[in-house]
Amino acid sequence: MTNVTYTQEFKCEICGNASYWGRRAFERHFKEYRHQNGMRALGIPNSKLFFEVTQIAEAQHLWKNVQARHEKPSVDWWHATSADFLYQYICVTNADW
Ligand SMILES: [Zn+2]
Repeated sequence: MTNVTYTQEFKCEICGNASYWGRRAFERHFKEYRHQNGMRALGIPNSKLFFEVTQIAEAQHLWKNVQARHEKPSVDWWHATSADFLYQYICVTNADW
């Protein structure tokens, strides 16, 4: 056994099974083009709700639940202005995070 000093690999099915090396790169990639594109292809708005979701089935399942609860996020939270964000936060009171 080697020491656990190597960079951890994270795979993302939504990104076409792309690999991300290291926790920070993995977390950052959810806001990046490739992941956004993957989410758009699934017809799911990319928001903080789907942070750390890398499985297509899991994203679809979560999205169905969100829709069932009438909590359709109409704002792209990553790119919303703070005013938009505040409005969304107050009006929808979706405080999952
Ligand atoms: Zn991804």
